[in-house]
Amino acid sequence: MNKNFRLIILPAIITLLTVRVATAQNAFKRDLSIAEMIDKISADSLKAYVVRLTEFKTRHSLSSQTSDKEGIGAAARWVKNKFEQFSLKSDGRMTADIDYFEVEPDGGRIDRKINLMNVVATLKGVDEKDKQLIVIGAHLDSRVADIMDSASYAPGANDDLSGVAAVLELARVMSSAKFPATIMFVAFTGEEQGLYGSRHLAEKIKALESEGKYRLIAMLNNDMIGNTVSSQTKLKDNINVRVFSESVPAVESDAEKRKRILSGSDYDGISRQLARYIKEVGERYVDQINVKLIFRRDRFLRGGDHTPFNRLGFAAVRFCEMNENYFHQHEYVRKENGIQYGDLPEFIDFEYARKITAVNCAVTANLALAPPRPENVKIDVKQLSNTTKITWDEPEGIKPAGYYVLMRETYMPFWEKKIFTESKAIELPYSKDNYLFAVQSVDGEGHESLPVFPDPDF
Ligand SMILES: [Zn+2]
Repeated sequence: MNKNFRLIILPAIITLLTVRVATAQNAFKRDLSIAEMIDKISADSLKAYVVRLTEFKTRHSLSSQTSDKEGIGAAARWVKNKFEQFSLKSDGRMTADIDYFEVEPDGGRIDRKINLMNVVATLKGVDEKDKQLIVIGAHLDSRVADIMDSASYAPGANDDLSGVAAVLELARVMSSAKFPATIMFVAFTGEEQGLYGSRHLAEKIKALESEGKYRLIAMLNNDMIGNTVSSQTKLKDNINVRVFSESVPAVESDAEKRKRILSGSDYDGISRQLARYIKEVGERYVDQINVKLIFRRDRFLRGGDHTPFNRLGFAAVRFCEMNENYFHQHEYVRKENGIQYGDLPEFIDFEYARKITAVNCAVTANLALAPPRPENVKIDVKQLSNTTKITWDEPEGIKPAGYYVLMRETYMPFWEKKIFTESKAIELPYSKDNYLFAVQSVDGEGHESLPVFPDPDF
């Protein structure tokens, strides 16, 4: 064997061995009912929604609301009709609404007093006592290069009909299933003008929470999930999807800041816990997709509908394709120097969008079936010790079959150990100083709640 060849082959063998060892530990069980739901998600359905919605010419937030043929009003009514059609399979549990709200001129992208709207389908949970709510959203509005141009052709096929199609398809395949928790499927408007729809819904949910009606546990924003080829670098990637999550929460009190610094929990905010959960559960159910966690709130120079939820203290993340193509985003549809500009359906890889939709389905279904997260999770830091003591309370609602205590090295991005216990306290022979921990509830079928990072208990 030649020396160079040996140099190449040895690392390859080592890599193979490491992968085998790593996968040997990742035994998982798929819930058949969730797998069946995922099987129903169809690339053809996604394509049909996208193509139909581009026919409204523009869905600019300031476009016509009265025309039946074009503009944001007609598109919103079309989405509502689709939700209503899907709700027929829900035994009256799913309802659809267009939620109008008034926006004042803002000296920027809103030039007049106007009513904007969110199209919302709510699939009520079957357990009255379960207040948990999950929101899956995408934005219906579109734009061209001139942000105030509400008349030109603005198909917005990828940005963000790919996301709206995912929301519609999820409403279709999930509407007949029974979940203890409530799920909201939302098409926002006003995103391109300044995240108006998502801010309105986040504030509304915050108010409902303070009345004790809901507890929002996760907001999944899908914004651009269909492009696979990058401009400039010409990469092609149909097996990775980015999930953006903020590190330090946008809302943090001084007391929470002190706890974060003491615990070293800079990478353990609620949105990051949600992102890790998406990676674990999404990859458990969906083949040929890798969830690539991006440890920042969003891309440079861009924002999204998860941000207003972050700003109100909710766990919210953004799904986004691995590669972006700037020839197609926010451009006037035209041909120049042989390049086709504009956000047209022909540039979407619907099979890729199907896999990302499936990840949303797996995560939402698993969360909506899971018992609520444990309450009052505390790590005992009263004295010096070479062990770790964690305690927690049983949540209200569905009684968990037990709990997973999660553990990882302080420098690792993902949980490494998952220890099952039926008890509400654990003492582990690992020093609390050397690892990070969290606790999640789990039912008999293996549906896990989001992990809760423990508060230091002095
Ligand atoms: Zn967008």
